Amino acid sequence: DPTKINYHPVKDACWTKNQKVPYLAIAKTFQQIEQISGRLKIISILTNFLRSVIALSPRETTQCIYLCLNKLGPAYKGLELGIGDNILIKALSSATGRNPQQIKAEVAEKGDLGLIAEASRSTQRTMFAPPPLTISSVFNKFTEIAKLTGHSSQNKKVDIIKSLIVSCKDCEAKYLTRSLSGKLRIGLAEQSVLVALAHAVKYTPPGQDIADASQGVNGEKFRKELDAAAAIVKNAYCELPNYDILIPALLEHGLDELPNHCSLTPGIPLKPMLAHPTKGIQEVLRRFEQSEFTCEWKYDGERAQIHLLDDNTVQIYSRNQEDNTSKYPDIIARIPQVLKTAGEGEEGEREGVKSCVIDAEAVAWDIEKKQILPFQTLSTRKRKDANISEIKVQVCVFAFDLLFLNGRPLVREPFRVRRELLKSSFKEIEGEFMFVQSIDSTNIEDIQSFMDESMKGNCEGLMVKCLDKDASYEIAKRSRNWLKLKKDYLEGVGDTLDLVVVGGFHGTGKRTGKYGGFLLACYDEENEEYQVICKIGTGFKDEELEQHTSYLKDHVIDGPKSYYSTSDSITPDHWFEPVQVWEVKAADLSVSPVYPAAAGIIDPEKGISLRFPRFLRIREDKKPEQATTNQQVAILYRQQQNIVKQTETNEDID
Ligand code: ATP
Repeated sequence: DPTKINYHPVKDACWTKNQKVPYLAIAKTFQQIEQISGRLKIISILTNFLRSVIALSPRETTQCIYLCLNKLGPAYKGLELGIGDNILIKALSSATGRNPQQIKAEVAEKGDLGLIAEASRSTQRTMFAPPPLTISSVFNKFTEIAKLTGHSSQNKKVDIIKSLIVSCKDCEAKYLTRSLSGKLRIGLAEQSVLVALAHAVKYTPPGQDIADASQGVNGEKFRKELDAAAAIVKNAYCELPNYDILIPALLEHGLDELPNHCSLTPGIPLKPMLAHPTKGIQEVLRRFEQSEFTCEWKYDGERAQIHLLDDNTVQIYSRNQEDNTSKYPDIIARIPQVLKTAGEGEEGEREGVKSCVIDAEAVAWDIEKKQILPFQTLSTRKRKDANISEIKVQVCVFAFDLLFLNGRPLVREPFRVRRELLKSSFKEIEGEFMFVQSIDSTNIEDIQSFMDESMKGNCEGLMVKCLDKDASYEIAKRSRNWLKLKKDYLEGVGDTLDLVVVGGFHGTGKRTGKYGGFLLACYDEENEEYQVICKIGTGFKDEELEQHTSYLKDHVIDGPKSYYSTSDSITPDHWFEPVQVWEVKAADLSVSPVYPAAAGIIDPEKGISLRFPRFLRIREDKKPEQATTNQQVAILYRQQQNIVKQTETNEDID
């Protein structure tokens, strides 16, 4: 049982109270976590480590949590690790004196630079032992590396990484290099980290000694308290996803007081609520039999979470909580004009808007024809530091939800209330800021014609949302209280898939000199691996093939990564790093003896593949880890089977 590994995070790392946390303590914790499976065991190992941190070196808790998550801060600060193999190999070679070509060959063979770094270190002899690495020294160096930009940054990065590797002992080099590459891959999900943090604080309240805190921590009652603690921390994180604020608040005020110090705050982006795909209007009606719902147009643009702060600044965040403020100076400039001021309204006395969080879709807009333009037009806009005078593509904000108003979080209010507040607090300006088109109807013909209109209006279909019951805003969830109904639902798979391109095949004929086909993969969140799902060769314009070829040739690797699940019979000419997500449409999904995607879910051994996949577009707004998951692939397959069965039954009746 690896939980019984003969290692004590405190004693064996020579860590004493008020001292800096040794990096070895977290590396050993990662090692233990990597060797086991099972969420509960993983949580208990991490809880043990975090208890020690809270009791001995509480001020370093936040950095520890970031290292566990392989992050350096919240997404909107834009600091990321993701150092390429070449830099890591250079640093490793100069730290160990090993030949870089030889390291490269080993990486190709074993697929994991971390393992090679660990093995290389242990053969190294140094004249005198460098001081042990600490969590804070590692975290600060990581941050320094992530901030380096420009011409000479490569060499500086190599130097810093080299200095870290030289100080590594035991298994440290393995986790250090993996962290630097941005792929820690120990099977530690953020939800487990949140639970472990809550448990650690419950077991060892800040300020208490570990030994004193171990009294009365058994039994059913305590287990319930642990669950309640986890719920408190998870909720707080949903509303305020920023560990720099959450962890100090938790350590200072304790679990029970946490909700009073961590609630939704303009200026800190939330993870958005997402929708489930559905196959058709019948399914929608069945799902919402008991509750009232509304249908809205599903606009095809980019999600925009618009924050108005008390000091009148406006910030805009993406679907992934990245800061898009500098992309949309035009939206920022118009927000003051859409706020209703205090005064008398249809609804009586109204307070002016001083702070708010609006959930919306930013869509390209044709000023002359006064209509929505397709997504492709929006994607030509500059992504950062746009200058308002140079903007060519106008965007219109289509607002669909209000999450915060004048100091008050609204996420627990039903959608009907939030929608009323949205409409009563903001003014529409055509082509600039509008409310989404919607109808509240349960009539199938009405919904069908509303769907047709949405398509004529250049939209993707409909979003169907509960109004009263089960109608809170579920932060960070793909919820069944929001269903998406896309136009392709009748012609093929109910939803498009977002897949990672992992391999390329040389083109022939007209496509000579370019890639002519590609290998795609979905993502298995539990095992943190990419599972190959299909080859794709259609849907590409010539210039797109050129663009893909020139982009992907910089990401060619010698062989499949250790975390690619593939099969011997699939051999692309080149393998790629997982760097880009493509939206793909397919005629249907089929069980496949060749492709490993979603294997073990539908069939004990066989996987699932896509038939007649067609390229639609690059999903710039999705990271590879946000690709369609193997579980979602299985759901799409099952939905398709249901439809087949329904059609067969209908045919029987006929
Ligand atoms: P996809 O965009 O490919 O459908 P996704 O995973 O990015 O997938 P979904 O949950 O499937 O997101 O769809 C919700 C997205 O649709 C939102 O993120 C938002 O950007 C967009 N959208 C457009 N119109 C609306 C609307 N009326 N209500 C909610 N979201 C909308």
